[in-house]
Amino acid sequence: MISFDLICTSGHHRFEGWFGSSTDYDQQLAEGLLACPVCGDTGVRKAVMAPNVARKGNQAPSVQRDNNSDEAVAVANMPEMPAEMVEMIGKVAQMQAKMLEQSDWVGDRFADEARAIHYGDAPERTIHGSTTVDDARELHEEGIAVAPLPLPFLPPEAKN
Ligand SMILES: [Zn+2]
Repeated sequence: MISFDLICTSGHHRFEGWFGSSTDYDQQLAEGLLACPVCGDTGVRKAVMAPNVARKGNQAPSVQRDNNSDEAVAVANMPEMPAEMVEMIGKVAQMQAKMLEQSDWVGDRFADEARAIHYGDAPERTIHGSTTVDDARELHEEGIAVAPLPLPFLPPEAKN
């Protein structure tokens, strides 16, 4: 296995992709199978080459979170993933990004902020953040709308 640090056209989304070989990478790229997990962009290129790391041969390629990296996780580069699915995920990613443009990121203060807005203690607006399942359930019981985001969201403070 070989891993590459990849980056999309925006230049802001770095992620790691695992491939059987360098040729696999070239092939998947040529076929448009590589999509940015944050914005769905398929204009992916190599950022900085990571050292080759051996993995067990039976492990499927995946995009992995690297705690030292400033960027995201999830999706994309499995050769057997149908192109339609990649395209769909890309569309969802783009729609989510668009939707969140109008929304304030509140991080783990989501439950507090959502309550404040609901009870008129904070200005009416759309927010997104993280919360626990229990908190989400309580909010729901109080009649406060909470919808899970379809794709993982990368906190703005984690971006450069
Ligand atoms: Zn991107």
